[in-house]
Amino acid sequence: MTTMTNKTDPSGDVRLTGIAKTYGAFTAVHPLDLTVPQGSFFALLGASGCGKTTTLRMIAGLEEPSAGTVFLGDQDVTALPPYKRPVNTVFQSYALFPHLDIFENVAFGLRRRGLKSVKKQVEEMLELVQLGEQARKKPHQLSGGQQQRVAVARALINHPKVLLLDEPLGALDLKLRRQMQLELKRIQTEVGITFIHVTHDQEEAMTMADTVAVMNAGRVEQLGAPTDLYENPRTTFVANFLGTSNFIEAEVDSTSGEEIVLKAGGGKLVLPEARCSAPAGTGGKVLVGVRPEKISLTHADDAGEIPEGRNRITGRIADSSFIGVSTQYVVDSPVCSDFEVYAQNIDRDPRLVPGAEVVLHWNPAHTFGLDAAQDADAGVEEAA
Ligand code: ATP
Repeated sequence: MTTMTNKTDPSGDVRLTGIAKTYGAFTAVHPLDLTVPQGSFFALLGASGCGKTTTLRMIAGLEEPSAGTVFLGDQDVTALPPYKRPVNTVFQSYALFPHLDIFENVAFGLRRRGLKSVKKQVEEMLELVQLGEQARKKPHQLSGGQQQRVAVARALINHPKVLLLDEPLGALDLKLRRQMQLELKRIQTEVGITFIHVTHDQEEAMTMADTVAVMNAGRVEQLGAPTDLYENPRTTFVANFLGTSNFIEAEVDSTSGEEIVLKAGGGKLVLPEARCSAPAGTGGKVLVGVRPEKISLTHADDAGEIPEGRNRITGRIADSSFIGVSTQYVVDSPVCSDFEVYAQNIDRDPRLVPGAEVVLHWNPAHTFGLDAAQDADAGVEEAA
């Protein structure tokens, strides 16, 4: 299968400017500016009700925006009906025609456009989704994953500039979902067109997308590459929605231009300035975050062996669970109760059991800083 479009061709860019949707007094999507470049695999990620499907439907033309403009390349498509947009959508329900075989399901779009010789194109498309052998089966004779691949082939056969995917893997079991995530990624790389994928599953978004927009209450909270979002979350929502984070309330003691020294409990913590999204004047409050897998646990008796220069806090193990690849500890500390630590199961220290006094320590480079006032503000706005 050859690439259908050129990655540098901007005619497949999706550009939303000030796009918004209200239902009566309720705002489902607050004014949103967003550019999805041609050829990218973009994910809209968020919990149920955050506005991601509404955003997708406004791009498809299935929902009329209350304000703003949808551009495809340079073309303003805001007023165009769905069938006139060079966009196609794959939904969670495959919506295949049950009485038609797989070949005819995929050929449908071409036949509707009056094309007579469809064989080559349909066969190419079935090859792309690796269903060449199944062409003469009916949908009910295929697995859920195979049916979803037919739906993708059917959506791609008209060569849309953009493919929208609305929780397309939602009906599949976990193992099949994982396989299909890789499969969809391969298909997208092969055809090179823009994919915009809506999901509430953070692992799915991170596995597949080049860029993820995390949505919360009708707004994009943060947008970036998966690793960037995970390593440098800028809000507590993002820090908690993508994986797990531990938080310590701290106060700025001093800043050097490169590092911020913070007071927390009786001790000090170091945070790289570049990883702090809070205003960091002396005396200011910062919410210090660290991921559970970045932390090492050392029994308090061995505290002297911890290398210099690491952030450290003390605590007592409250709980531990062995889950095969790792052991997950919950540690109570004067600066944070329920501190989570994931330790790989290599050379486990048998003394690390509930009740043990421990030191938690980590490389300061793995620390991030958030605006402690932010959540309080969000709470006020929510309540207003
Ligand atoms: P889910 O994953 O559950 O589909 P979502 O993030 O895609 O969630 P949307 O479907 O975009 O969320 O809905 C956003 C908000 O807008 C929700 O609170 C929803 O109840 C509301 N909403 C959606 N459609 C309508 C409608 N036609 N009338 C009124 N409210 C609506």
